[in-house]
Amino acid sequence: MRVYREEVRVSTSRRFELVDITRKVEEVVERSKVKEGFVQVFVPHATAAIIANEHEPRLLQDIIEAIKTLAPPDKPWKHNEIDNNAHAHIAASIIGPSRSFPIAGGQVIRGTWQNIMLVELDGPRVRRVIVTVAGE
Ligand code: ZN
Repeated sequence: MRVYREEVRVSTSRRFELVDITRKVEEVVERSKVKEGFVQVFVPHATAAIIANEHEPRLLQDIIEAIKTLAPPDKPWKHNEIDNNAHAHIAASIIGPSRSFPIAGGQVIRGTWQNIMLVELDGPRVRRVIVTVAGE
């Protein structure tokens, strides 16, 4: 089994943002030469997450609004006494730092409305995305 890994850097420009990284992930899979296997997309960050969903601009705003409802940034969280980003840690904990996708015929399998997106919860920052491809 081949294991191929690349780190992709993503610059975010707002406190909350969804950044479509589908093409970057697919390019790593192409460079890996893996035809049958899996790709894992992982962020080594406590205040960012990865999702797979539809890249429709209004929906992206809705997802961000839902995240803010789930973990309101202006609530007096205890962590905010030392670092003003408890909401980001909480949302990142719930959404999760990684998603994985099957690879068949050298292509990433995903639904028509499943783009791979980095969820920025405490930007703007430069985020690392670790893309690991495993298979044959
Ligand atoms: Zn913090």
